[in-house]
Amino acid sequence: MLKLERLSKYYTSNDQVVKALDSINLSFEVGEFVVITGESGSGKSTLLNVISGLDSFEDGELWIKDEETSYYDTEDWENYRKKYIGFIFQRFNIIDAYTVYDNVLLALKLSSYPKKARKTRALELIEAVGLSPQAKQKTSKLSGGQKQRVAIARALAKDAPIIVADEPTGNLDQDTARKILALLKTVAQDKLVILVTHNAEEVADIATRKIRIFDGKIQEDKILKKTAPVQESLPSKTEKTSALSLWTVALRNLFSMPKRTLLMGLISVFIVGVFMLSYGSYVDQSNTPGFSFHPVFSSRSEHRLVVTHVDGIPLDANDLATFNQIDAVKSVVQFDPVLDLYLQVEDPINAEFSTPYHFMPASSLSENTLSQGRLPVNASEIVMPDNQGGLFSFGTTYQLGQVISAYVSIESFRFSSLPNESTLYTVVGLHSLGTSSWPEMVYVDDSLLANSLLINQALAKYHRVRLEFEGTALFTLDTDFNLFLDDTLDVDDIFINGVEAEATILPRFFPELSLDEFIELEFEMSVQNPFNDQPRQIPFTFSGALSNQIIDAKYGSNSLIIAHPSAWAGFLDNQTYQMTLIVEDAFAAQRVQDSLPERYFSIYPAGYQEPFEAIFGVIANIFQIFSTIFILFVMYLVSYLALKNVMKSRQKDYVIMRSIGASKRDLNTITILELMMMMTVAFIGVYGALLGNAIFDFGWPNYLRFYTVFNYIVALSLLLIMMVFLGLRFNKKIFTQTVQTAMRGE
Ligand code: ADP
Ligand code: MG
Repeated sequence: MLKLERLSKYYTSNDQVVKALDSINLSFEVGEFVVITGESGSGKSTLLNVISGLDSFEDGELWIKDEETSYYDTEDWENYRKKYIGFIFQRFNIIDAYTVYDNVLLALKLSSYPKKARKTRALELIEAVGLSPQAKQKTSKLSGGQKQRVAIARALAKDAPIIVADEPTGNLDQDTARKILALLKTVAQDKLVILVTHNAEEVADIATRKIRIFDGKIQEDKILKKTAPVQESLPSKTEKTSALSLWTVALRNLFSMPKRTLLMGLISVFIVGVFMLSYGSYVDQSNTPGFSFHPVFSSRSEHRLVVTHVDGIPLDANDLATFNQIDAVKSVVQFDPVLDLYLQVEDPINAEFSTPYHFMPASSLSENTLSQGRLPVNASEIVMPDNQGGLFSFGTTYQLGQVISAYVSIESFRFSSLPNESTLYTVVGLHSLGTSSWPEMVYVDDSLLANSLLINQALAKYHRVRLEFEGTALFTLDTDFNLFLDDTLDVDDIFINGVEAEATILPRFFPELSLDEFIELEFEMSVQNPFNDQPRQIPFTFSGALSNQIIDAKYGSNSLIIAHPSAWAGFLDNQTYQMTLIVEDAFAAQRVQDSLPERYFSIYPAGYQEPFEAIFGVIANIFQIFSTIFILFVMYLVSYLALKNVMKSRQKDYVIMRSIGASKRDLNTITILELMMMMTVAFIGVYGALLGNAIFDFGWPNYLRFYTVFNYIVALSLLLIMMVFLGLRFNKKIFTQTVQTAMRGE
């Protein structure tokens, strides 16, 4: 079964070579109960360690079942121990934090004992060593004799053919020692037991063979009793310990050492916290719109994703349904150009106008982005910026309950009021979302954005309108002259500014006509929607001309056409060509863009960058990536230092696990799993705290709103990868030494 041939082992210490084993020749068979005696320092332990693959040897050969072992590498020795050896130590080497049952179960797990039979087998073994009443007790509470019984049960657990025991009774009183040896004799009858003792008497009636070592040499080798040949039970094939078993071991470790786990937990929470915050500020920065103005869209809300049809055809209810079905779409602004209108807010008491704002629907806000108040519930309620979160502060601070009136203006066009002069708006909430680009946002009830006056105003803005007479262009609105929409006129009214007409148009195109005759002419309006190639020609006559006094008093002299909004709307193509899909942020916009059917074209104005800014952005991003890597590296070092001592206290347990058959891979997996579980729990905890912050506002920076599912996955993955490196680093030391050296080290 086991054969040593001219086997020698040397130790070098302080340039001196000690021959601990000197050309040993021995051979053992299953069924023997071999007792090795000798003076202290004679080489007994060394012999056992070599036999059990815990220590190396220099010369000679060790045969196991006629197989040479001199070419074995670390992994082969791991398998060798796992397959053949059950070891019982003088100092027990059981895991103190575990219960009796868990210690035995651990050995069964690590030796890949069939899962279903483990529990029964563990209880059988505990019963066999007489510890059933203590099965659920932590082993730290047991007496020396009881601990050694646990060690015996554990050594027997994996059913290895060879049991090796190094002075198992050295720490026990005589009476207990005798009982332990008797127990070992009965439970290991069909095995080869090799036992070292300094007290030959206590084993005289048990041993079948006695070997005496002196100075590394065999001095005596005597058969005491003839042993009947025992049918060798073939050791089961060594299998890799299953991932599930390792996972349960990791879990057991966490639960059986609550103090250590708590400490690890706190450190993990700290690591995750710092990481989430620095990662959050990174995501925040890479997600903040730059300073570029989009050439077409002046409203660059991060919630706005503009969608048109690739063929430039109008969008209808079917399209709307398609958009609403997309998960990341929070709501749809059906007539998108209203978002690009400029809005002025007047404080009626001071009659002062604010700087312009843009509208955004309240559905794009979440409750937790309000610094005060609530969201609007009807069209006369609005949410204004609190001018604290914004990069730009215009000095206007609104108060909850403050009543204001809003004027919509487009360049020099100005709408008289919205929706009519008497409507006032109440500020019901203040938001702290600086848009970090001018202008800031006023959030209104979604229904207001479907208001026909607003829509007409926006329609007038983006159409190209030209007045023609018999094919001759007289002027183009917006470039040559301005339009003023006034909803206090009669519904059909479209006037011309008489003074302007007489001064500019009549002399050039109609020198022989009077103003009254000019008004009577039948003109054509050429109206072009930017989405159509061809302008439409629409017959048209003026309702009349306005006098200079009226113009001066109400509209300003550069206005040429003054019309009621609905009269004007009659010229315009009032179909919807572009809609805005309201999304959470840039990441959500990206997701929506990815899932939009190909027939749609989408633009994300907040993501627009002018070329020079794009270059700047790339540099900033590279810088961010480097600083993130740097932070990760610092965190790795901090975690290493913080967890080092906690992990070091585990070293003893790890060496024990290794001595009973855990491979390098197994222990690495266990360590990494432990760290990963702690990290995951800490991650969930920190996430919960951040969520609490977002809801109850503990006053921390609210980075949560920058996180998408993707960010969470990335953040957690980075942390877990960090744990893999940490785990490998912690365990590295254990494996650069033989088990024996590592054990002495503790
Ligand atoms: P025993 O168990 O019989 O008391 P050991 O096997 O422990 O004896 O030791 C045998 C010899 O090897 C002794 O001379 C001891 O000093 C030496 N020895 C044991 N371990 C080491 C070591 N790690 N380094 C150097 N010498 C050692
Ligand atoms: Mg010894």
